[in-house]
Amino acid sequence: MATTFTADVDATVEQVMRCADKGFDLVRVTVQGKREANACAKIRDKLFQKGYDIPLCADMHFQPVVAQLVADAVEKIRINPGNFADGRKDFQEKVYESEAEYIKEREYLVEAFVPLVEKCKSLNRAMRIGTNHGSLSSRVLSFYGDTPRGMVESAIEFADICRSQDYHNFVFSMKASNPLVMVQSYRLLAAEMYRLGWDYPLHLGVTEAGEGEDGRMKSAIGIGSLLADGIGDTIRVSLTEDPEFEYEPCNRLAEIALDRVAANNPKAKARQEAVKKYIDTRDITSFSRRQGALPEKKEGEAVNVSEFLNPNGSVISAVTLDMLKPENAPYLCKELGCKLAVGMPFKDIATSDSIFLRTPPPSSDGEARKTLRRLQEVNVGVIVPADKLERDPLPNAVALMNLQDAIAKAGKLPGGAIRLAVTVTGNEEEETIAAIKTLNPAMIFLSVPEELSSLHASRRVFEILKKNCIMTPVIHLFKTDIDDSSELALQMGTKIGSLLTDGDGDGVLVEPVGDKSSFSVDFLRRTSFGLLQGSRMRNTKTEFVSCPSCGRTLFDLQETTAKIQASTGHLPGVTVAVMGCIVNGPGEMADADFGYVGTLPGKIDLYYGKEVVRKNIPSDVAVNELIELIKEYGLWQDLPKEEEEAVVAAN
Ligand code: SF4
Repeated sequence: MATTFTADVDATVEQVMRCADKGFDLVRVTVQGKREANACAKIRDKLFQKGYDIPLCADMHFQPVVAQLVADAVEKIRINPGNFADGRKDFQEKVYESEAEYIKEREYLVEAFVPLVEKCKSLNRAMRIGTNHGSLSSRVLSFYGDTPRGMVESAIEFADICRSQDYHNFVFSMKASNPLVMVQSYRLLAAEMYRLGWDYPLHLGVTEAGEGEDGRMKSAIGIGSLLADGIGDTIRVSLTEDPEFEYEPCNRLAEIALDRVAANNPKAKARQEAVKKYIDTRDITSFSRRQGALPEKKEGEAVNVSEFLNPNGSVISAVTLDMLKPENAPYLCKELGCKLAVGMPFKDIATSDSIFLRTPPPSSDGEARKTLRRLQEVNVGVIVPADKLERDPLPNAVALMNLQDAIAKAGKLPGGAIRLAVTVTGNEEEETIAAIKTLNPAMIFLSVPEELSSLHASRRVFEILKKNCIMTPVIHLFKTDIDDSSELALQMGTKIGSLLTDGDGDGVLVEPVGDKSSFSVDFLRRTSFGLLQGSRMRNTKTEFVSCPSCGRTLFDLQETTAKIQASTGHLPGVTVAVMGCIVNGPGEMADADFGYVGTLPGKIDLYYGKEVVRKNIPSDVAVNELIELIKEYGLWQDLPKEEEEAVVAAN
């Protein structure tokens, strides 16, 4: 999506050419009114003159007449069913007496929409029926509520109008900033199309995903999950970054998905064959998280094993022997997200719940063992392979065995170990997985080998656990040699996020393998917490919803978002939306607690929920006003002193 003012023809042409050179297949430009519609004609011409035939899509809101005008110039029109014919009405709940009354109100949609459909049909223009979770019409909200079903019905009634005119050159989108809502909406639409015998393409996107790794992670969770199920035809990754930077993650998500298609990859074919025999009985129309039961503390135990995991989702960090050396110990505690008080570690909001040690320190290494003991004293679990513990017993460790070994040994723990954990690959027979019930381990590590489809093999494991009423928490073990942070976010989001969005899984352990991976424990821990937050499991920081910006944006979105993140990023449970314009911003920020929305150049409105609570604040003081507002609503926490000093310095 172009971020230039569309009326600035030269700047837009330059940006579209940069996007085309990167490899994009289509560029969308914002069209607010006649001035921008006229500019589109000039942009199209200039691009042709320069040898660029990349299709353009006009992004339309509220303006049926302008939409018809711009259809002369561009190849595709995006309309938003939530506001195309509704004008800028504030939501007013209405009680419909019957479905017939609701359907009758559709007449004004037909009146407003048919002329555009006819024009697109006569000019062979494409259209996107682009539903957005945050901007459903008041009519749909009144009847269906703020739900995936409402999004689907909203899109279907516009498609019905297209079909009534024998116009079929359209795609659907069901975007939301919440990946779970987005995934459910697309699945519901795909199921509805299947029921209706329709086969229109789906354009996928997580809207207002933000920037950096978090933006990539959220996009991968939403888009990657759907692509993994074979849903989706075109994609856009919406980042609060220059549009050129959206290409790489977008393309990688497509590549990761295509690699899973059997026709493209003999390995993928084998992986799918390997799990073909199992029937998938998932209910895709409802969501419920399978929440594993935490291990219970027993009388007289020195450590509290129930704190080795977190009920909302756990992060386990892989630690090497070297990191336990006395000179590295304070550094390790910080990497694990512990607070330090008089040299002692304490668990904080985003501390790793447990650590995984491939090799324990020998009993002769008293200093390394002291470091471990200190972590155990604050209930950080220490998980170690059982065979290593046979040689070097470590008090209160969790002994990890592969499932077959654990069955062969009837779950007998090595000396010093306090609990059992088992590794499952997804390749085991059903009765082998069912035997977990008798072993009663504290946790299961699910690590699917390359030769199996991880998504399908994992789903099968969860089905067997469910069938056998096994409520042991499942931690996804993600082994990686990736050395690029963006790629890591995309792979984790796609491969683990796709399971977490189905409610399957209680946490993650990322284990670097090989020499390539150079990520620190701290980075992997923060990325893992990002995955849990993106999957709507556990919030350890402020949730940001920031629009990607477009021709309507009224302030420097990237700079302002960075400033707001630096000042307010430490408020778990709080959602802050940063939106570039008042036309779509308030509607699209959906369930944010606070909104920072551009109203005029240099002026900001601040929202609490859907209500404007500060109007026309000069932009140079608006971030401070936002902080005051958060304080006023009792959701502010002070930063630790040294972090506060760092923020002041950065600002
Ligand atoms: S909210 Fe942002 S991306 Fe959406 S229309 Fe306004 S400025 Fe453009």
